[in-house]
This record gives sequence, C-alpha cells and structure tokens, in this order.
Amino acid sequence: MMRDLVDTHCHLEWPTLSRQLEAVLERAQGCGVRQCVTVGTSVESSGAAVTLAQRHPMLHAAVGIHPSDAAAATPDALQGIERLSHDPAVVAIGEIGLDYYRMAAPAARQRDVFGACLDLAHRRGLPVILHCRDAYDETLEVLRAEAWQALRGVVHCASGPPAFIEGMVALGWWISFAGNVTFPNAKALQALVTLVPDDRLVVETDAPFLAPQPVRGRANEPSYVLHTVEALAQLRGRSLDELAALTSANARRLFGLPAAPDPGRDRAAQAGVPGTPAV
Ligand SMILES: [Zn+2]
Ligand SMILES: [Zn+2]
Repeated sequence: MMRDLVDTHCHLEWPTLSRQLEAVLERAQGCGVRQCVTVGTSVESSGAAVTLAQRHPMLHAAVGIHPSDAAAATPDALQGIERLSHDPAVVAIGEIGLDYYRMAAPAARQRDVFGACLDLAHRRGLPVILHCRDAYDETLEVLRAEAWQALRGVVHCASGPPAFIEGMVALGWWISFAGNVTFPNAKALQALVTLVPDDRLVVETDAPFLAPQPVRGRANEPSYVLHTVEALAQLRGRSLDELAALTSANARRLFGLPAAPDPGRDRAAQAGVPGTPAV
C-alpha cells in the first residue's frame, strides 16, 4: 500500500519554501504526502496561496487574516479575502482566531476581525482553520454562540488545557497536531492527543515553522509531517500507516478534498505536459 499523508496546514507561499517549491513538493511526495493545505495569514499571502493551489493539483488553499495581522485587516483587506474565497482552489477560511500570547494587535481588534472572518466562513459554507493561543476560554465562548452552531473547522497546532480540546471536540471540530507534539518535554501536549476521537484527528507541519524532533531547528516542510504522524501513532498504539490513512481520510472529510491526485499526474501538470506519465 502506498503511504497516504495530508499536511493540513503549511505556508508554502513563505519565500523560503516558494523559492524551491518543486523540490519541496517532490520531497513531500517521496514521503507519501499526497495533498497539502497552504494557508494565508493576510490578504497578500492568501492571494499567493490561491495562486500556488491553482498551479499544483496536490495543493489547496485557505484564505484569512491571522490574529497577529489583525491591525492590517482593513475593510478592503476583508473584501479581498471574501473575493479570494470564491476561487475553486479555496477549501477553508483561515488562519483566523485569537492570539493573546503574542498580542501583536489589541484584543478588541482581534475579536472584531475573528468575528468578521467567522461570518465569512458561515456565509461561504467553508470550514475554519483556527489559530488560538492563550485565549482558550474566550474562543470556546465565541464558538459556542448560537450564530456559529453550524460552523465546523480545525484547531490548528493544538495547545491549551484539556477542557479546551474537549470543548472543541464536543462542538464537532477536528484537532490538528503539529511538530511540537514530538518534543520530548511536550508531555502536556502529548496528553491532549488521547482526548481526540479517531475520526477527528488530523496532522500538519505549520511549515516553515515548528520542525518536529529529529529535524528540530531546521526549516520545516511538508515531508516532515511523517515524523509527527510517527509520534502520534506511538502515542495511540497504532501503526504508522494506519494513523496516516486515518488522519488523511479525516482531512479529506474536514475540507471536502477530492481523492488524492496521482503523483505522476501532478508532476506532469507542473511540467505543463498533461497526461504524461512520471519518469
Ligand atoms: Zn497559527
Ligand atoms: Zn500557520
């Protein structure tokens, strides 16, 4: 069986990755990564994410304004995100949320932008990619509101107290673990893994950030999602391929992704020769 991995959260439009994208995607495919969601953090990076996803069958895009970029979320920028959200390459609104750890924008501003983006996800019928740091109670309170009952999405780079993860699972959301779950001192984070039911668990790299343990300190990239799946498989007492298949099926359900493209077809598409088999 061919290994099947989905990286649900990376930033391939980041210059260090986009400059060598062909090589990055080839290494990812070599490790069994079949699809990636590349995630915007501003109107500019969201536009770049959509452009990449239009070019590569294995890439899908998310568009949104990161809480740390909330100060730049003008009405024009929000309208830009809405326009981009209509592109067929877009599978989610994100990353959006609250970050009271960095507090790069005032809390009230973050809340306003988060609300506007949740409203967009609701109107467009798209899942949400949630970024939440040190705003766990407030995020749960926001998402429990009547208005957002129909919204679904994923807690990206899971963290926080067990009650937060349990609360998000109860709301019907998915939970995504990143490379930091592989760190030897990440006991509290590893304990969260057991709180997530089999059908809600997904994985991500958050590349180029947060490279997992064996490659910690290096620039992260989608191929390294394998190390995170390995750690999760160990924590849950499953085989690597079982956990890969499980998390990838979950990711496709969460984002409504098509079946994985054949890697040969992707390379042919990149070379601009449709239908040419890979060599
Ligand atoms: Zn994030
Ligand atoms: Zn991110």
